[in-house]
Amino acid sequence: MDKPTLVPLLLISFDIDGTMTFGDPPGPVPVSFVHAAIDAGHVVGCASDRTRSAQLALWSEHGAAIQFAGHKHQLTALRERFPAAVRFIHVGDTHVDERYATAAGFEFWHVDGAAAFLAHDWLDFNHLGPGPRASDAQQDARH
Ligand SMILES: [Mg+2]
Repeated sequence: MDKPTLVPLLLISFDIDGTMTFGDPPGPVPVSFVHAAIDAGHVVGCASDRTRSAQLALWSEHGAAIQFAGHKHQLTALRERFPAAVRFIHVGDTHVDERYATAAGFEFWHVDGAAAFLAHDWLDFNHLGPGPRASDAQQDARH
């Protein structure tokens, strides 16, 4: 049986390319944010256009023990797989990210706002307020 959860559990999915600093192209989110979220006990993983094996290899290379990896259209399944999570968040850089996140009932955080938001609140993931809204970053998302 899983350990009891004492804090509000977030499930955070990160895109890679255009989102993470190690992506191609690089994005603004450093892997330290992912480590911090994992250390805080949240469910952290990846939804990217890359193959699952490529995702796992890349995160492993960066020392991040993520709990899920897959394509963006598989986000919906995560809601059933991690029912203890109280918020489901996908961080990405494109309309595709937004479309799949919204379709799966996830909050979509555009990466430009998310990087600054996480930098500000990264020590206290449990008390994160509403994340950056997609509409705040709409112009960037059109790039
Ligand atoms: Mg991307």
